[in-house]
Amino acid sequence: MNFEQGPIRPPNEAESLFVRLTRNCPWNKCLFCNIYKNKTFSRRTVEEIRNDILAMKEAEEKVLSYALSLGEDEVTREVLQMVYNYAPDLLQIAFWLFRGGKNVFLQDADCMIMPPEQLAEIISFIKEQFPSVKRVTTYGRTKSICKYTVEQLKMLKEAGLSRIHSGLESGYDPLLKFMNKGVTAEEHIQAGLMVKEAGISLCEYILLGFGGKRYWREHAMDTAIVLSTIDPHFVRIRTLAARRESPLQAYIESGEFQVQNDDGLAMEERLFLQNFDGTGFIVSDHILNLLEEVQGQLPKDMEKIIGVVNSYLSLPPDERANFSLGRRLGLYRFLKDRNDPALFHQVEEVRLSLIKRGKDLEEFVSEYMSNYL
Ligand code: SF4
Repeated sequence: MNFEQGPIRPPNEAESLFVRLTRNCPWNKCLFCNIYKNKTFSRRTVEEIRNDILAMKEAEEKVLSYALSLGEDEVTREVLQMVYNYAPDLLQIAFWLFRGGKNVFLQDADCMIMPPEQLAEIISFIKEQFPSVKRVTTYGRTKSICKYTVEQLKMLKEAGLSRIHSGLESGYDPLLKFMNKGVTAEEHIQAGLMVKEAGISLCEYILLGFGGKRYWREHAMDTAIVLSTIDPHFVRIRTLAARRESPLQAYIESGEFQVQNDDGLAMEERLFLQNFDGTGFIVSDHILNLLEEVQGQLPKDMEKIIGVVNSYLSLPPDERANFSLGRRLGLYRFLKDRNDPALFHQVEEVRLSLIKRGKDLEEFVSEYMSNYL
């Protein structure tokens, strides 16, 4: 393929077409993050990006010519099979068209670092080349968004930017500082409100476990306050996993940061939810989250969502440990899965054998989680 793409995108953008505007992360200093470690940030020129989009357009035309040769005017399964057989390098574009060719995600970690006029030009060019595109989204750091004016954000909206995904992580300033996030809660609020004022959809990510065992209450409370003020369209819940290669690891080894356990994560999540009065969607679409069922439309689903957390916390300790282990091993997806006797028994056998071998379950779960992406 004659165009460049990066490796990272939000889970719900898996079916989008990726257009790479910058490489890696311009900040790259967050203590808990190792996604772009040892990778240097660089900008791409507008010309390079336009050439990528033209190459994607050319790929689209080739795929559609395969479709025509089969008497189709769109990409069907038969067309996909033909592309797979004769031009596998076109498969990504073919799949994108098969799924409707509607969504585009701009990469990598912070396209809002680009000058507004350039970003608007690129988005307009994408829409011009691919009239089927309905949604264009990107990651944007709070600090970069704060450098825009609302008018400039409106210009992006008019060009076709639909949504900004932003890593808020926490609303508690001492933690933002400790984790070297490079932003304050006040800046999170400023950036979030500006994005909303410009009419762009906003998705904020929060990180359970960000305060470790020491600051979970402060983290939950201040994050709820900041997010209630912003009231983003989406709040996506993520869970901190201390990856061995992340700079946070040294603080864990020295005991300065104690990783939160699953019961603590659930209590933190409940405290956050009880104090968050947003009106958007809560989404929990990540394998590292203990309770995937924590999602819904607020405020109407809040009681049900808090009920999910309470269901976990009200289980007897051994059953909580069973669910925690089964979830982390990938055997359970939802709380109700533990009602399957065979599955429950399978997890219980592992749990009892770990105990017999003198393993600390909390440590085992934490280590296991650190192996996930
Ligand atoms: S801004 Fe995002 S991608 Fe960059 S280091 Fe921080 S968490 Fe990682």
